[in-house]
Amino acid sequence: MKLNVQDTFNKQLPADPIKENTRRQVEASAFSFVTPRIPSQPEILHTSDDMLNEIGITKEESKSEQFKNIVTGAEVYPNTTPYSMCYAGHQFGNWAGQLGDGRAINLMEIVNNDKRWALQLKGAGETPYSRTADGMAVLRSSIREHLCSEAMYHLGAPTTRSLSLALTGDEVMRDVLYNGNPALEKSAVVCRTAPSFLRFGNFQIFMARQDTKNLKALVDYTIEYFYPHIKGNDKNAYIQFYKEVLDNTLDMIIHWQRVGFVHGVMNTDNMSILGLTIDYGPYGWLEGYDPDWTPNTTDASNKRYRYGNQPSVALWNLVQLGNAIYPLIEETEAMEEILDSFNKGFAKKYHFMMLDKLGIATHKEGDSKLILALQKTLRFIETDMTLFFRKLANIEKDKNEAEAIEKIKEAFYTPSDFQGEVKENWHDWFKQYLNRLQEESNTDEERKEKMNAVNPKYVLRNYMAQLAIDDANKGDYKLIDELYQLLKKPYDEQPENEKWFAKRPDWARNKVGCSMLSCSS
Ligand code: AMP
Ligand code: MG
Repeated sequence: MKLNVQDTFNKQLPADPIKENTRRQVEASAFSFVTPRIPSQPEILHTSDDMLNEIGITKEESKSEQFKNIVTGAEVYPNTTPYSMCYAGHQFGNWAGQLGDGRAINLMEIVNNDKRWALQLKGAGETPYSRTADGMAVLRSSIREHLCSEAMYHLGAPTTRSLSLALTGDEVMRDVLYNGNPALEKSAVVCRTAPSFLRFGNFQIFMARQDTKNLKALVDYTIEYFYPHIKGNDKNAYIQFYKEVLDNTLDMIIHWQRVGFVHGVMNTDNMSILGLTIDYGPYGWLEGYDPDWTPNTTDASNKRYRYGNQPSVALWNLVQLGNAIYPLIEETEAMEEILDSFNKGFAKKYHFMMLDKLGIATHKEGDSKLILALQKTLRFIETDMTLFFRKLANIEKDKNEAEAIEKIKEAFYTPSDFQGEVKENWHDWFKQYLNRLQEESNTDEERKEKMNAVNPKYVLRNYMAQLAIDDANKGDYKLIDELYQLLKKPYDEQPENEKWFAKRPDWARNKVGCSMLSCSS
């Protein structure tokens, strides 16, 4: 296996001078060199053929002993020096100080087809940043990360990717519900990929330590490799950098809202500087449309990271990034102006994104009202978001409301509640919607095609991931690949996979892993 290795990060940024892998505060360094832990019996369960292709590894090579060893930590690729990154962060709104890659180890950076990819193992053992934990990851959360990162990519949302999912052959102790019932679980390693895994927290740590020299080195590095069109290394360049990070973050959130993804732990250490979805933990997908929903049990009381709050939290996190890089800019006004652009930019992009979901191609006054009314109406009766929007494309604009409702009725979780005021509200909304469609010149067919390109038919519902996890725990890994293949084409009609185009089954409503998840991973 021949890889074009170009480890710029560890060549250009300050390394931790201490070589021992001991847990500690790591000062004046962007990273520490760490060797992955040797797994006792590594076994690859799944690889993303799409990602193999991206980084230039053939199917044949991916079956080799060397590939298996590298993506599980058993072997270090020649002339590479694996490392873990130092970062800080705000967790649930509170400053948490140094966090860092507690179980993630960057293996190398490679360049293929002019694209830069960092390969990173998650769950490959202790690092100086492991704090009180073990550096390991369990199979269930690794399956969730592997499948969801690839699914997000195919949905068109910016994201880190996943190359492989493997068992280590070792077991780790976890208390899934945090209720005093720890048990042994299989441990796994995911090999994640992204142009860079840099997070807001990597910048925050240098600010917190008043280390402006290294802060500047890190920002200059990030611009050079990931925002190369920004020229110079002065205030103006940094202002532009800040604005572009904000725009990328905003675009990512628009995609999340479009597909109904709830990240669940939008701490600043989980915010990518490239605007990628990163760190798939207790994430979830909206089933019943409910802006107040969060999948994360740790956040159940405050619901800071609920679906409807993701835009505000993104902005809050961007303020923290602004504070972190402020020493390089020192122009409050310019930075405030950038921050001010978020809400306006979001409102505008959200509006057009929703019009796309509704299949409205032209813009008319009153469209905002139609969108608002829909959001309200969707909450009168538990309505499956994915099913609703996908089925909405099937209505015919010259039919009446009752006929339109027939087409989307399957999205209601309790059809018996569809009566009285609920029914009236839905009829009202469809009346407005059908009237609005009448003002559009495109045909039902044309509208449907456009809508189906933005309203996915298949998303990784929590219960689907959980089914794959349950099977995997019994040693059956087929469903992992079945879901991977399904989610590669989330917008396509896949008649053979119609069973996955369905509401969450009743048994999954309150089942662990299907409705709510803890951070235990
Ligand atoms: P997360 O909430 O998964 O983004 O993790 C927050 C912090 O905890 C990061 O610094 C992680 O590296 C660290 N962490 C999470 N799980 C483990 C683990 N099993 N071992 C070591 N560090 C961990
Ligand atoms: Mg994290």
